[in-house]
Amino acid sequence: MRIILLGPPGAGKGTQAARIVEKYEIPHISTGDIFRQNIKDGTELGTKAKEYMDQGKLVPDELTVGLVSDRLAKDDCKNGFMLDGFPRNVTQAVHLDEFLRGEGIKLDSVINIEVDKDKLVNRIIGRRICKDCGATFHVEFNPPKVEGVCDLCGGELMQRADDTEATVSKRIQVYLDQTTPLIDYYSTQKIIKDIDGDQDIDKVFEDISSALDNVK
Ligand code: ADP
Ligand code: ADP
Ligand code: ZN
Repeated sequence: MRIILLGPPGAGKGTQAARIVEKYEIPHISTGDIFRQNIKDGTELGTKAKEYMDQGKLVPDELTVGLVSDRLAKDDCKNGFMLDGFPRNVTQAVHLDEFLRGEGIKLDSVINIEVDKDKLVNRIIGRRICKDCGATFHVEFNPPKVEGVCDLCGGELMQRADDTEATVSKRIQVYLDQTTPLIDYYSTQKIIKDIDGDQDIDKVFEDISSALDNVK
């Protein structure tokens, strides 16, 4: 199964991704997670990416597309993968198509998680992630059993550096300007499936599962 998760910041991509990869046993490839890991490790890529991320802008394509094709060329992607947060503009989508064509493979599904703009801000401001394993929680909508502590690994929960009031509206605008054209792009390929993301986390996953089970 080769899947792309599309949707605005805060739509629930990361939350659903964790469930999808468990069910379909495919690697979860999140460009945001890769950049955050590089920032944590203090790499040159991390330093460059942080500059853009802190402003709510997209990291330039030259730093992003090669990284993704290198990741997709690894052995664990042979039986499928789930891309979360990539592609984010048409240039990246075209690069991905070229890579897939070169490998003689095709995408099975693009899951487009829809949530109204006015709900996204609260989701992003209340998001907490585990410092150690990256698991995602929400102070109100998906709280951990013990405040500030990860249910999965006991790690400390923190707020992402870019999850501030200041960057949120910029990130939503970047999504509307640069990423929504991908909805048309993949509609033309007839592989897109719209999912109502404004439901319980479990119900959203049910809808995604039935969409993906219909593809298989
Ligand atoms: P994305 O990866 O699309 O930016 P996340 O999965 O990180 O989104 O979700 C953003 C925030 O909203 C997180 O704090 C998460 O716990 C919460 N969230 C995710 N799905 C839902 C949902 N269906 N209803 C309410 N809150 C949700
Ligand atoms: P969210 O789903 O909340 O927008 P992500 O973790 O997907 O968060 O992305 C966080 C930030 O990382 C983005 O705002 C952007 O700066 C950068 N980023 C992630 N993926 C890409 C990408 N494919 N192209 C360019 N920048 C990216
Ligand atoms: Zn954890």
